[in-house]
Amino acid sequence: MVWKVLIVEDEKKIREIVKLYLQQDGFSVLEAADGQEALQVFQEQRPDLVILDLMLPKLSGEEVSAFIRKQGETPIIMLTAKTSEEDRVKGLESGVDDYVTKPFSPKELAARVKAVLRRSGKPREAELKSGDGLIKVNQARHKTKVGGQSVALTPTEYRILVLFLSNPGVVFSRAELAEKAFGWDYEGYEETIYVHIKNLRKKIEPHSNREYIDTVYGVGYRWLG
Ligand code: CA
Repeated sequence: MVWKVLIVEDEKKIREIVKLYLQQDGFSVLEAADGQEALQVFQEQRPDLVILDLMLPKLSGEEVSAFIRKQGETPIIMLTAKTSEEDRVKGLESGVDDYVTKPFSPKELAARVKAVLRRSGKPREAELKSGDGLIKVNQARHKTKVGGQSVALTPTEYRILVLFLSNPGVVFSRAELAEKAFGWDYEGYEETIYVHIKNLRKKIEPHSNREYIDTVYGVGYRWLG
């Protein structure tokens, strides 16, 4: 099981960058672009944590958080441009677990997400597994096993594998993989991704006798396991 985080934000750019950082940390990310969509995705998918923008179309962040609170104790981190103490206190009274004021560092937000989940006492599955259970990644120890055997991965291969295991069936373009494997501003590394994929395949596929990484021609790669 992987932690599911719902990000509710009407600005696509912010959603995308937050998504990127969270996926890189092994979270599964759901998105909603307005308050109504947020309620719908929340009810259907039951995320483990919600990152909620305060100023939203259709329903406000406060209305969404009130709804979530009625349903249970899912932690909420509010994104807000309002900085006055009064707003913060009001938000905290309505059941918000933490605040991040815009503009924010996505890295810091990802750290807050982890801290809030730790505080909420929700145990994180330390292990990510492929669907067939043959590939296991221990995230606390950064160890990878295939069919019971330890496999030494480079940091880049490890990040790509974590991304795939957290998002099975999702097609990632080379550019997306490069951004996720190397960080945000590494456009030039797109061309080297196929080398990392090739090496990762060589390390994981012989031990399991099957293909896990599917090449989607002209688009990118997808995890099959
Ligand atoms: Ca907004």
